[in-house]
Formats: sequence, structure tokens, C-alpha cells
Amino acid sequence: MIYLDNAATTKVDPSVLNSFVKVNETLYYNPNSPHQAGLQAERLLQQAKEQINQALRLKNAYDIIFTSGATESNNIALKGIAYRKKDTANEIITSVLEHPSVLEVVRYLAEKEGFVLKYVNVKSNGQIDIEHLKSIMNERVGLVTCMYVNNIMGQIQPIQQIVNVLKDYPKVHFHVDAVQALGKILLDLEGIDSLSLSGHKFNGLKGQGLLITRTAHNIEPIIHGGGQEFGVRSGTVNLPMAVSMVKAINNAVKQTDELHQKLTSYQQQIREMVQSYPGVKINSPKDAAPQIINIGFPGVKGEVLVNAFSKQDIMVSTTSACSSKRGKLNEVLLAMGISEKQIEGSIRISMGQMTTQKDIDSFKEKFEMIYEEVKELLK
Ligand code: PMP
Repeated sequence: MIYLDNAATTKVDPSVLNSFVKVNETLYYNPNSPHQAGLQAERLLQQAKEQINQALRLKNAYDIIFTSGATESNNIALKGIAYRKKDTANEIITSVLEHPSVLEVVRYLAEKEGFVLKYVNVKSNGQIDIEHLKSIMNERVGLVTCMYVNNIMGQIQPIQQIVNVLKDYPKVHFHVDAVQALGKILLDLEGIDSLSLSGHKFNGLKGQGLLITRTAHNIEPIIHGGGQEFGVRSGTVNLPMAVSMVKAINNAVKQTDELHQKLTSYQQQIREMVQSYPGVKINSPKDAAPQIINIGFPGVKGEVLVNAFSKQDIMVSTTSACSSKRGKLNEVLLAMGISEKQIEGSIRISMGQMTTQKDIDSFKEKFEMIYEEVKELLK
């Protein structure tokens, strides 16, 4: 099987799994327990947090909160920060490009909790419009949230340009969903207030997430209980998850340059191949992250294409696994001005650390067969 759906999830790296199993077997203690074993677990937990700060080169040590994934991290951060700022700065800025774990949260805050929600415009290359952001900023904005790399098209957002705009507004908290970015591009996290990550997107485990924040005390807890993790994420800390997350992050950071090069070459090969098939369009911008390439077959249904590839043992996705079942036109592609026909016939190919040249060669071969099957439908 050729797996080209790595933006949905990746295969766990054996070193991460081993570390998870090992800590489960040897250090299963609760870091909150007052005895020797508990203290040992607590030391390991703190060490894991320091190592994450080091791996991500975060200056001034950020607070690290272990969660079950980026959906939880985004919920804790966005709700928790918004609630703290409700009386002083109740405007939130985002864009329609965000993952549902951000968009649905800010929509909820606007519809049910009375926050004012503004969407920054999107340019045809899929980046947010910095000039428009400047024009909608004001003293009442308390939260700006923007993803680093889009999960459907792969475009990279100008995070440092956003940081620059926000410098004039010291009350604003800037949250970044970096789920699809870590390990694939070099991150510049200077000036970011909080960051979400999900281990299973970079060969970690499912159910392994992180919320990294300048100070957890700015977050109003939405989960109440024993007060673990700065009181922001109560519940017994999953130490084996935490320790194996360090492994996953270290692997991802160490491999970034090499992986970037490898996937850039694969992406280039796919682009060149697609261009030789009349009627097939590349939706992703030229300077997208190397692992994601979105392709449109106007006139053909995305599901038909995914099934055709699937029958050939190649796993690709329509738009994204999270929204492909909802059956509505994808907002990200719409925002980039792509035609309805092209959106309906779009597939996402997403590569990862375990993708090989052989996979790409097979993909190219099967692509030709599938093209022959559907070319009459292309409009
Ligand atoms: N943000 C982005 C950009 C994502 O791609 C995903 C996963 N599709 C998430 C957040 C949510 O991550 P998880 O499903 O691991 O909670």
C-alpha cells in the first residue's frame, strides 16, 4: 500500500512507541504523588518540558501543557484566553482557512458567548492579507489565531509579518496552530504567545498533543479538577505520552532539513508530472510546504478519484479527512478563488517521513492509468 495521506495521520516511529512502552513499564507513577516514585515521575515530567523548550529553541522557557491532541490544545487556548479577556478585549481575529478545531471554537465564542469575530481576508495564494489585518486591528482585539501551514493546500502563513503587526497592540494574544508545520519547514516562533501541536502528524502517537504558551496563567481553565498542568489541564498527567512526545519532537526537529529536501524533490516531480496531463490543475501555491500538494480534476468528483486511487492501493484524500465527510464545498479552496468544479474534483496528496521515491514512482504510474479512466469527464 502506498500511503499518501500523512496530513491526516502518520505511522508511529518505533523509537517513539518504544519510549512510550518503556515508561509505561518502568515509571507508571503519578507525578503528583508525594512519595519517592511520584517525585521521580515529576522530575522526568519537568525534564520532558525542558527538553521540548530546547528542541523548539524557545527563549525564556514557555509553559508546556500535555494534551490529547491539537483539537484539545486549540480549545483550551482559545476559550481560556478569550474568557480571560472578555471584559477588556472581546474581539477575535481569524481567517476561514483555519482547521475546524479553531474555526468551530471561535464561532462558538461569537455565537454563544458574545465575542466579536472578524475574519481577515485571504489572498489568491492562500496567505492571509496583512494589509487587511492591519486595517481591522484595534485596541479591543484580544486574540488573533492563525495556522502555520494549511492542512489542505499546504500554504505557509507569514507568521512573522503577523507578529510585526501585533507589536503595536500589547494586549493581543497570538495563537498559532503549527500542527502541519513541525518537522516539515523551519519554524520561527519568535513573538508567538501560544502554539498547538499533535504528535501523530509527525510520527508520534495518536492522542499525544501539546499546548505551548508563554504563560499558562493567562488561560482561564475550561477543564476543572485536580489542578495539574498549571491548573489548565486537570487530570493525571500521562507521563509515558509526555516522554515519548519529546522523542517525536526531537526526531522531527533533527530531520527537518533532510525531510524538507526530500519532500521538495518529490513535490517537484509530482508537479512536473501533473503539468503534462491536459485538464488537471495544481491547486496548491508554488511556495507551499513540501509535504502537501492539492490537485484539481475539474468535472470529476473528488470521491471518485479517491476511490480510483484506493483501488490501486494508493491512499490519498479529498480535501481533508476532518471535513471530507461533510459534503460541502471546501472553504479554504473557495477563499483562494478556485472554481466550484475544480474544488469538487480536488484531491490532497500528503507525504511524510516514511514516503519513498518508490512510492512516488508508483504514484506516477497509477496516475496515468487513472487519468485514462477519467479524462473524458475533465472540463
Ligand atoms: N490543526 C490542523 C492544522 C490539523 O491539520 C489538525 C488535524 N487534522 C488539527 C489541528 C487537529 O489535530 P488532532 O486531530 O490531532 O486533534
